[in-house]
Amino acid sequence: MPELPEVEIAARNLRRWAKGRRVGEVEIDPRARRIFRPATPEAFAAGLAGHRVARVDRHGKQLLLTLDGPGGRLGLLSHLGMTGKWLRRGPGEEEPSHSRVRLRLDSGAVLHYRDPRLFGRLRLVPGARFDEVPELEALGPDPLRDGVDAAALAGELARSRRPIKVALLDQSLLAGVGNIYASEALFRARVDPRRPARDLSPAEVRRLAKALVEAMEESLARQEGPEIRYVEEPGAENPFLVYGKAGEPCPRCRRAAVVRAVQAQRSTFYCPRCQR
Ligand SMILES: [Zn+2]
Repeated sequence: MPELPEVEIAARNLRRWAKGRRVGEVEIDPRARRIFRPATPEAFAAGLAGHRVARVDRHGKQLLLTLDGPGGRLGLLSHLGMTGKWLRRGPGEEEPSHSRVRLRLDSGAVLHYRDPRLFGRLRLVPGARFDEVPELEALGPDPLRDGVDAAALAGELARSRRPIKVALLDQSLLAGVGNIYASEALFRARVDPRRPARDLSPAEVRRLAKALVEAMEESLARQEGPEIRYVEEPGAENPFLVYGKAGEPCPRCRRAAVVRAVQAQRSTFYCPRCQR
């Protein structure tokens, strides 16, 4: 699943490939209707064609493209769903499989939105007024863009009885943290994921805030490149410390095995010996 680092890679790539470029023809896979809901694929294609990409931003797991056209500004909101990817293909290069949307750019390149499972979303935002989109309005600060204010985070956590791991998945608390980086940050901060959020000490919240940013920045450095790699994909490497590593020795203490638990229907991985 895409979390902040994967979506940041997508944003950097889109910026490099498409900024300043005009979108010509827009082709759509007719089987991909649900990606555009509640709009129709036809309305999406007609609305987007002819616009020039002015900027590419990101907030949490959402990609925000601002385009200029004859009728003024237009926004394009893209969420990668489970394993969605934006890919670039030059003239004559083979198309990726499961390409749902093809944007022909005036550079001669084609941008493909690849989404085998159709869990992604693509939506036009009139006037690029992203601040009026309810899903975006509800998002908390973005750890990479805004940093993590440990004192503000501690204030929010103090009001929550939820286990800290579950609280961290709340996008109104911090935008872009998902299952992987919540597990990794709690491991780095040596905090047991099952503890009630409000029981963490200020020092623990400070460790956690730092660990979140570190885990995301390391992942970004590792992933820089023209294609996002999801750990869930067949044959993918698992570069994480504890995520997806149940039964393997803890990489810190080496005296306990990493445990998998289920919290709020999601897998959590932790070391029962060094996370307290
Ligand atoms: Zn350990």
